[in-house]
Amino acid sequence: MFLRVALDVPLNTLFDYSWTGGAVAPGTRVLVPFGRRNAVGVVVGCSDSTEVPPARIKPVVRLFGETPPLPPGILRLLQFCSDYYQHPLGETLFNALPAAMRQSKPLSLPKPKFYCLTTNGRNVDPETLPSRAVVKRRLLQVLRQADSLSRSEIAALSPTAPTALKTFIELGWVEESQSDAPIPPFVKGGLGGISDGGGIPETAKSPPTPLLQRGEPHDPDLTSAQRLAVDSVSTTLDAFRPWLLHGVTGSGKTEVYLQVVAAVLQQGGQVLVLVPEINLTPQLEQRFRARFPAVRLVSLHSNLGNGERLKNYLAAQAGQAAIVLGTRLAVFTPLPRLKLIIVDEEHDASFKQQEGLRYSARDVAVIRAKQTGIPILLGSATPSLESWHNAQGGRYGLLNLPERAVSGAAPPAIRFIDTSRLKLDDGLSEPLLAALRERLARGEQSLVFINRRGYAPVLICGQCAWISACHRCSGRLVAHLRERRLRCHHCGHESRIPAACPGCGNPDLTLLGHGTQRVEETLERLLPQARILRVDRDSARRKDALPELLRKIHDGEVDVVVGTQLLAKGHDFKRLTLVGVVNADGALYSADFRAAERLFAQLMQVAGRAGRAELPGEVLIQTQFPGHPLFMDLQRHDFPSFAEAQLAERRQAGFPPWCYQALLRAEAADRDKVLTFLQRAAAEAAVLEHQVAVFDPTPAQMARIAGKERAHLLVQSASRAALQAFLKAWRARLEALDARTVRWMLDVDPLEF
Ligand code: ADP
Ligand code: ZN
Ligand code: ZN
Repeated sequence: MFLRVALDVPLNTLFDYSWTGGAVAPGTRVLVPFGRRNAVGVVVGCSDSTEVPPARIKPVVRLFGETPPLPPGILRLLQFCSDYYQHPLGETLFNALPAAMRQSKPLSLPKPKFYCLTTNGRNVDPETLPSRAVVKRRLLQVLRQADSLSRSEIAALSPTAPTALKTFIELGWVEESQSDAPIPPFVKGGLGGISDGGGIPETAKSPPTPLLQRGEPHDPDLTSAQRLAVDSVSTTLDAFRPWLLHGVTGSGKTEVYLQVVAAVLQQGGQVLVLVPEINLTPQLEQRFRARFPAVRLVSLHSNLGNGERLKNYLAAQAGQAAIVLGTRLAVFTPLPRLKLIIVDEEHDASFKQQEGLRYSARDVAVIRAKQTGIPILLGSATPSLESWHNAQGGRYGLLNLPERAVSGAAPPAIRFIDTSRLKLDDGLSEPLLAALRERLARGEQSLVFINRRGYAPVLICGQCAWISACHRCSGRLVAHLRERRLRCHHCGHESRIPAACPGCGNPDLTLLGHGTQRVEETLERLLPQARILRVDRDSARRKDALPELLRKIHDGEVDVVVGTQLLAKGHDFKRLTLVGVVNADGALYSADFRAAERLFAQLMQVAGRAGRAELPGEVLIQTQFPGHPLFMDLQRHDFPSFAEAQLAERRQAGFPPWCYQALLRAEAADRDKVLTFLQRAAAEAAVLEHQVAVFDPTPAQMARIAGKERAHLLVQSASRAALQAFLKAWRARLEALDARTVRWMLDVDPLEF
């Protein structure tokens, strides 16, 4: 018998090996000889015959039986991805596996540390802890409910939970646990057990055990819009139906997720929740854990260690984890009882992988829901125009949450400060400063949002026009004054800030433009009594720095936060009432047709940080174009109007979602080589019969990164099927071209150009 095996190699082919054992299930991991080494592979099929000549066929070295095979549903999904994204099946498959399963050695299933209460700890009543010690109380409660918790489960409770854990260990209340027995999969509120393959013994259902305690006292009564959303999704859990849940920040989307999830758990199903970046949405994970304290929830993202990621993956595959919360890579997790997929912030660009298999996890999630025959719920305050278009056309059900859920919570008032008429003090206008002072006097917090880190985006010489350009990229070097360095944000190149102009020796170099460091410095000068905190990728670079920064804001140790989009998402700061936006104009007239969509989403999101229930919020945007239509829609919080205008523009210009696109990306050290390759590629396209528009080779928006010249060829069609058929034929021809000095790849549904 021969096994057909997918390997992690950039070749669009499968490999046959002989095998004398019994039948092997597709999805099984095997070790096979490849070249001069052994490589791990995944069996995708068996056969009695092979086209490989008998002399060249090699035997399988061994099967890896420590993990169950990938289920057929996942193999089918990966096959779809391989076809759709024009990427070799082997690489596609391996992209979906946890790193530990990609290694060519047997898995030693690691034992991550678990913690449980000692007898002493069990005797402590959480109510006896000081009421201020919220995190300690909560940790103690959760430990009482669960048999044992892993480090990451504890960390997910609160940024300071690990510190509380340490204290508990010192007090002798908590010890490391040997067992990692999964928490029994009960459902909250005594709603019945969820089946775990074999089902739950009857006795486990009835008596209220501590496991059934709830994290929050009551589910809130739903608004009628929320009720409609929950009912719409949860009445048909056994058929494919995509839903778009549109509602501004605070409109109660998460509450809808939670109640739909409750319905799914009641039926014994598993739920997959995809989020853009786990770091940016810690509150979502905490809310899920708090709502379903007795249900095993695992997270899957690239910040987990290999051992924990593997363990969580296997718990999902074994059906032990009822809820999987993860970033884009989690979309490929095997889930035997999957009944619902939720994609939160579905418009977010980080769902698209920008290297290797360039898949969109949101789109793959929709395909997965379709193949599995289950509903999928896409949520956003600012849906992608693709999803919005689908909802308008009736292909997706549209669920609207038109108002903030908490009564009395008005959306923040958005106003514009016309900077074309005002003198700015180092980038900041007097009205913005006055508003900041007002918040300071009232003891409220403010956020100054600027999506550019560093001190100044460029350093120039006024005498000879020298400019701090990166010699490896077509970008500029950003001045980081604090570290006295010039940094390229594209390739990572760094150098010292020169004392004088390298061109003419002029010692008076000028810092042009503003970044977070400069705004921070200006605010320190202008608001000397304010406590200012900068939150950007630099200040949060150290591992675990971000939770500490966030804690400071939550605990009121900060008056003014200077932040980038790191802060724009998901965080709910109770005393934050003012958001100032500095320098957002660049995107208004960008060459990128998606720039306006991204800007609108970003501004809506950051505006959502201002003002919650008791304290009304205000957003002040400094701009030279206060009358821009995008700003008018933003001011009315009118996403539908914005989307309609954008869709009309795109229709006129023939852009997605009115057509489907793919890019042939190419890069090489030498620009001519790249262009020559793309011209040959265009010639290959011309030979084919197709209904696809093939455009001329164009330099990429960043025409050079890290010494590589980059260009692309755009192809598009009004028919997805026609585009797919063309890509398949074209790719075969491209693979036959001799292009050793050029690296090329296809990017289907590209987001970046
Ligand atoms: P979103 O996810 O859209 O930002 P959330 O679900 O987080 O909205 O809701 C915002 C706030 O309103 C939260 O504090 C939540 O607990 C509360 N909330 C949500 N729905 C209701 C409701 N029906 N009644 C009362 N409060 C609610
Ligand atoms: Zn000079
Ligand atoms: Zn560079």
